[in-house]
Amino acid sequence: MIKIEHLSKSYGNLTVLKDISTEIHKGEVVAIIGPSGTGKSTFLRCLNLLDRPTGGAIHVDGQDILNKHTNVPKIRQKMNMVFQSFNLFSHLTVLENLILAPIKLRGVSEQAAKARSMDLLRLVGLGEKADFFPQELSGGQKQRVAIARCLAMDPEVILFDEPTSALDPTMVSEVLSVIRRLAKDGMTMAIVTHEMDFARDVANRVFYMDQGLIYEEGTPAQIFDNPQKERTRVFINRVRTCRYDINSPDFDIYAMNAQIEQFCDKHNLTAKTCSNLLLVSEEILQMYKPLLHDCKLTVVVGYAEKTGQVELLFESATRIGNVLEVGGEEDDLALIIVRNYAEEIDYQVVDGTERLRLVVKKT
Ligand code: ADP
Ligand code: MG
Repeated sequence: MIKIEHLSKSYGNLTVLKDISTEIHKGEVVAIIGPSGTGKSTFLRCLNLLDRPTGGAIHVDGQDILNKHTNVPKIRQKMNMVFQSFNLFSHLTVLENLILAPIKLRGVSEQAAKARSMDLLRLVGLGEKADFFPQELSGGQKQRVAIARCLAMDPEVILFDEPTSALDPTMVSEVLSVIRRLAKDGMTMAIVTHEMDFARDVANRVFYMDQGLIYEEGTPAQIFDNPQKERTRVFINRVRTCRYDINSPDFDIYAMNAQIEQFCDKHNLTAKTCSNLLLVSEEILQMYKPLLHDCKLTVVVGYAEKTGQVELLFESATRIGNVLEVGGEEDDLALIIVRNYAEEIDYQVVDGTERLRLVVKKT
């Protein structure tokens, strides 16, 4: 239904969307998650032409919508958007908010528009509020009116940009329930959200966006239970980190260890876990030591709040190789110690950075 190819968007020198290619199929619910500032809103606004993409192509039902002959209001009706901040007209009643666009833009009769709008208000649970003004409603009610107003244009796709993030926590679920209902009825939707449990059960597909890209996409199970790529893992598992840069073989190991202890303390890791962490890091750093004249190393301690996993990363932009594999005889004991305290060890080179990763046993 929507086909996006090499979509990019810049504001002056700032590249917000780099190169996005994907498709959204009819009846599909796509949840878009990711840290703030990564271009999620810009992506939705480009789809609906509130922002003009800098490059790439978007086809909706086979029609090239970036073509200059495109009827922009028509595209916006087809792909209607619901915003975080409701955007209701405050001088109009709820019912008037709903009937305005169908009458003005689609030439629907007032009577027909009113009848249909009343049905939609009942659908979102607000039949009784038709003659109220927006300021007489709660945030959750306002957002449900905004959804009904969006539906009044009979869109083929609805784009939601963080529909619940301006709401009191007590009102989030009434809005999510309405969106769930639309999903059940087969509405095609793209939803930017921070509500992970909701994204997981409403979506067919999840886009994890980071730094202007769809960095990883998959089913909710793939993205939430088994993310494959580093930044997705950090985001999904809420990995907290502390980093220490090592620039020479004479680095201050006491300062580094103190920082690690402080980090363990802050995240309530046990003294034993902390000592395992320090032990493994010391052994590994011994192996790196002869190489530290020529290369810089960053030690990262990560604690995944969601899984409870504690990991130790050694990152270097210089190619060193896997120190756990090149070691001589005297390193055998160190290796035994490391294997004893780390339950998972892997070595990867990603985008020119070498990374040795160890999951430290928790006790
Ligand atoms: P997200 O929704 O993921 O938080 P946005 O799409 O809102 O991210 O923004 C991505 C980046 O684009 C941010 O750095 C933001 O400051 C920038 N940006 C967004 N809109 C504009 C604009 N109209 N002019 C300049 N920069 C913008
Ligand atoms: Mg946003």
